[in-house]
Amino acid sequence: MEYKIRTVGVLTSGGDAPGMNAAVRAVTRAAIANGIRVKAIYRGYKGLMDGEVQEFTTQDVSGIIQRGGTILKSARSEEFKTVEGRKRAYDVLQKEEIDALIVIGGDGSFTGARALAQEYNVPVIGIPGTIDNDLWGTDSTIGYDTALNTIVECVDKLRDTGTSHERLFLVEVMGRDAGFLTLNAAIAAGAEAAIIPERTAVAEQLEAAIGQGRRKHKNSGIVLVQEHAIEGGAKAVAEIIEKYHPEYGTRVTILGHLQRGGSPTAYDRILASRLGCAAIQALLDEQRSIMVGVQNNEVVYVPLTKAIKEKKDIKDDKWQALQVLSI
Ligand code: ADP
Repeated sequence: MEYKIRTVGVLTSGGDAPGMNAAVRAVTRAAIANGIRVKAIYRGYKGLMDGEVQEFTTQDVSGIIQRGGTILKSARSEEFKTVEGRKRAYDVLQKEEIDALIVIGGDGSFTGARALAQEYNVPVIGIPGTIDNDLWGTDSTIGYDTALNTIVECVDKLRDTGTSHERLFLVEVMGRDAGFLTLNAAIAAGAEAAIIPERTAVAEQLEAAIGQGRRKHKNSGIVLVQEHAIEGGAKAVAEIIEKYHPEYGTRVTILGHLQRGGSPTAYDRILASRLGCAAIQALLDEQRSIMVGVQNNEVVYVPLTKAIKEKKDIKDDKWQALQVLSI
């Protein structure tokens, strides 16, 4: 099979995540080092369909490794979910002579990439970029470590005021369907409880946290609530507590988009740099429709279909640790 990649396209898609820029930089420089031209595509699949394409040199990615967000911009596109939309995207790839596409994003973006690959036989490589860490086949995703540290920093600050005023703070954390950010931030910040979608008995979790607190004469506390663990999020949890434990003064803090921002941690910069290089290596290895990931500190190639469909479970020892350490 004739399989020579001369030009690679790169885009960022879906929710932005700190470290995406470091990944764009790594893809660009690794490609050029291997004699492959790089065409940057702005605004994700929307920009691809609209032909927002620009060739990148190594200088175009100077000074971005430390910057949050994505210089390529991100976008969501309903049109790309249609056959006609993907046809438009493919036409642009042909016109720009892009032989392979590297998509930095989450499971939605990978689902789109896989559809394009199936319909037009385009080699696509996914780089996991999402703060949620919800992709199977990689121990971490780009942006997750930074978001985790941001959340812990915020919770530490809330605890200072919580203890001063003897209040129960309910902190709403992002994560889509996954509780990784919430559970790990709860452990790291010494929270009293975490309410996550993977463990559904919300009432019992709350009762345990509050009951334990009372027995120990704790008069303030922090409970982290994953945004979709319960309909209505942290506000709904506050209503339950106010109904059954009116003696608690509850306060709700929704961290929201704060969690996406900021300069990436060293961990995320290194992960992004590694995976950007790995994506180019994967193309040289004639891989297609795979995600590059890291397992046990080794780079791995994971079929896109598996990365999207399989469910990564939270570690039970972490869940147990939180229960034991919050008493
Ligand atoms: P993330 O990649 O962070 O999960 P989204 O779920 O918003 O973010 O997906 C990003 C983009 O990927 C969508 O706006 C859409 O253009 C594309 N996409 C998502 N799901 C599909 C799908 N089922 N088929 C084709 N494209 C999709």
